[in-house]
Amino acid sequence: MHPQLRNLEQQLQPSLLTKVTAPLLDDHQIELWLKRDDLLHPIISGNKWRKLKYILQHAISTGADTIISMGGAYSNHLHALAYTGRLLNISTVAYVRGEQPKLFNPTLKDLVTWGMQLKFISRSSYRELRHYQSLPEQKPNEYWLPEGGALGYALQGVAEMVEEIDIAYDTICVPCGTGTTMAGMIAASLDQTAVLGFSALKGTHFLEHDVKKLLPDSSTSFCQWSINHDYHFGGFAKTTPTLLDFINGFKHQTGIELEPVYTGKMMYGIYALVKQGYFAKGHRIIAVHTGGLQGKRGFIDA
Ligand SMILES: *Cc1c(COP(=O)(O)O)cnc(C)c1O
Repeated sequence: MHPQLRNLEQQLQPSLLTKVTAPLLDDHQIELWLKRDDLLHPIISGNKWRKLKYILQHAISTGADTIISMGGAYSNHLHALAYTGRLLNISTVAYVRGEQPKLFNPTLKDLVTWGMQLKFISRSSYRELRHYQSLPEQKPNEYWLPEGGALGYALQGVAEMVEEIDIAYDTICVPCGTGTTMAGMIAASLDQTAVLGFSALKGTHFLEHDVKKLLPDSSTSFCQWSINHDYHFGGFAKTTPTLLDFINGFKHQTGIELEPVYTGKMMYGIYALVKQGYFAKGHRIIAVHTGGLQGKRGFIDA
């Protein structure tokens, strides 16, 4: 492994398992644990480190000195990439969705501080860029990293997260953007466990297809998995007072902070499914806290 990458890994804090207690869970005899990837690193948000680790290693092994990627103005992916790029002495370039704002939000400010070159593009160009397997006129020293780090190499790091969990469980839950983290969890899970994703976006029935595309080709069957599309709260990065109240209540009850884009929606969805009796009595659930708290800065005001 690249020495700087190993160095970075040694600075990570343990991702603990925290048990969540709530009357609702007791009433339904459900055990809920959080896999605290949010604790890994103050800047490289939980699942972003898991996804980037082996992507960066691969990029370095190809001799690339520049990584080019894409994301929104609050992107946790770009935030983690810009920071690690700076540590590893790799130049980073990002296509950012939408017009260049007059005032940069805290995420964009960080990206610039860490030397990431930003190229603001229209929403329609952004949508097109999503389908690129490589960039037109890409140079040999450049490495194209699709939105959300959706490359097979991402799965290997996510598998390490799954392998760290040292208690038995029935279902493991994760919020989904591109579904890359979920694909890594499916590939690493045992037959008898279920992987349940919660889409953070509206109208994403392509997500199942995207997840399948990322799964390794193999004759072995994967564990049972499905994606719930009911708790997007109006779409990506949209919130409602109900969701924000839930997040505040959760913080108050457990001391654990969630954000409204991904983890808040997943946790709301889990509680809703528990209420509906979706999980059998005695079920043990692990929910992955994928981090992302940096994206919250200035987000609620915006
Ligand atoms: C990026 C992100 C996700 C979504 O990950 P995908 O692999 O794109 O599905 C989930 N939670 C948080 C906090 C994120 O930052």
